[in-house]
Amino acid sequence: MKDGGRKQGTMSPCAACKLLRRRCAKDCVFAPYFPADEPHKFGSVHKVFGASNVNKMLQELPEHQRSDAVSSMVYEANARVRDPVYGCVGAISSLQQQVDELQTQLAQAQAEVVHMKMHQFSSDHHQPPSNSSPPSENVYQSSRFFSSPNKMGQSLWSY
Ligand SMILES: [Zn+2]
Repeated sequence: MKDGGRKQGTMSPCAACKLLRRRCAKDCVFAPYFPADEPHKFGSVHKVFGASNVNKMLQELPEHQRSDAVSSMVYEANARVRDPVYGCVGAISSLQQQVDELQTQLAQAQAEVVHMKMHQFSSDHHQPPSNSSPPSENVYQSSRFFSSPNKMGQSLWSY
């Protein structure tokens, strides 16, 4: 992906110019990212964003970021083609929902562990507890866990 599929000396136009039926210039902005052997990539991006918008977006970016921008545009465009209503937001929110469900399950499992440890502790030590540190440590750890879901939710959106 880094240096594209453009070989020096080949006169075949890049996938973008081929689809747009135009001559592929030497400094074609699309050529490094839309090689002729991957026509579907430009196909979906053109369909969703439009060639001139993609051109504009690439021109506005420094060259070292263009490859990543193309990857994300291709991903977004493919998601939009697959799911015309929600696009990649559909994938994001279903993953978000999975994260929420798994975090709830994890919290329940951790609460169960704390409960079981406390139960074990009280049946093991019938004498007054001289060192009550293990259970309180667990409670501290699980309360720390409860503060993490928001962070995870944010990281999903900040990409
Ligand atoms: Zn071209």
